[in-house]
Amino acid sequence: MRLEQGGAVPRLRHRPLGAEPSRAKGQLLAALLGCALAAAVWSGIGWGRARAQAPILRPEDVATPTPTQAVILLPTPTPMAGTPAVQQFMEPQGRTQGYTVQPGDTLWTAALEMGVDLEDAPCLVAPDFRPQEPLVIGDRLEPLPVGWRCHRVAAGETLAQVAAQYGVDVRPIRGVAWNRLPGAAADDSPLPPDRYVRVPGRPAPASSGFMAFMLDQPLAVSPYMAYAVGGPGGTAAAAVPETWPYGSGRFTWPVFGWLSQGYREDHPALDIAAPTGAFVTAADRGVVIRAGWNEQGYGNFVVIDHHIDYVTLYSHLADVLVEEGEVVAQGQIIGTVGSTGNSTGAHLHFEIRDFGRRANPLELLMR
Ligand SMILES: [Zn+2]
Repeated sequence: MRLEQGGAVPRLRHRPLGAEPSRAKGQLLAALLGCALAAAVWSGIGWGRARAQAPILRPEDVATPTPTQAVILLPTPTPMAGTPAVQQFMEPQGRTQGYTVQPGDTLWTAALEMGVDLEDAPCLVAPDFRPQEPLVIGDRLEPLPVGWRCHRVAAGETLAQVAAQYGVDVRPIRGVAWNRLPGAAADDSPLPPDRYVRVPGRPAPASSGFMAFMLDQPLAVSPYMAYAVGGPGGTAAAAVPETWPYGSGRFTWPVFGWLSQGYREDHPALDIAAPTGAFVTAADRGVVIRAGWNEQGYGNFVVIDHHIDYVTLYSHLADVLVEEGEVVAQGQIIGTVGSTGNSTGAHLHFEIRDFGRRANPLELLMR
């Protein structure tokens, strides 16, 4: 269920009944003068009267509502220190570091801390891990290398089939010590069902492609300008209670800045370069489920659960201005831009998770 913006009710253009108090006067004047001009006035009034009293609405009586054209002023962004420097406002490769399981952790919270997709998270634990099992406090979880996938074996599935599914050879999968695959077993004999297999990825695409494209764009006209239009704007159809924890599913830009990194397989997020101290706002209404320091490279970060299968994450913050458990409104300030954690310059690293998987925020923001 999505909250719609108000103001969509068609407005009537015709006047209400009996709204012509001067009609009698007009008729008298017309009779007295009897000139062509008065006749014209008369016919005009007569038409107005017929329209005013018409019991049936015709299409032309109903004004088409004009969509509210938000005037978006796009100030020319100042590239921080010359355009090539934009490249520095990102995280070095291999951002994620290992994580030690804390009391109260679940696979989901560990996946959030480590910045991995929920479906890949079992491969951080053990091949025979069952997602309903609790994690062991103090266990060390090591992230998958970039581009690797986590496969859950279906009943009757063979190693050869798994390899084919990911377009890789059997040998590199066998070579992964974590997989603990018996060397003697044939490639076409079934694997134990419901166990997990780490599948090495093919080499990640060159990360320079997107940047090269970005740096070619004229600054003022790039479609990749990231902007926030003063929060959600408009008037909600109904007042939302202060404690309403559900998002609308329509995301607003969390910061005004310059997109320095787009979404790729090895960077499933957006990096928006912005000056240190710039306000970071909640992309949608929701509940803060994490606010504070992250050891794995995010630095100061905030995670908001929108309770509609979406979760957003804001990292490298200088200041965190919300607390865990707090309900935040769309557009509410939650922190400031910084360069904490694994970061080489002031920018916001922004993720949107859809059912635990990191989705492309650009697609959701531009909807
Ligand atoms: Zn990033």
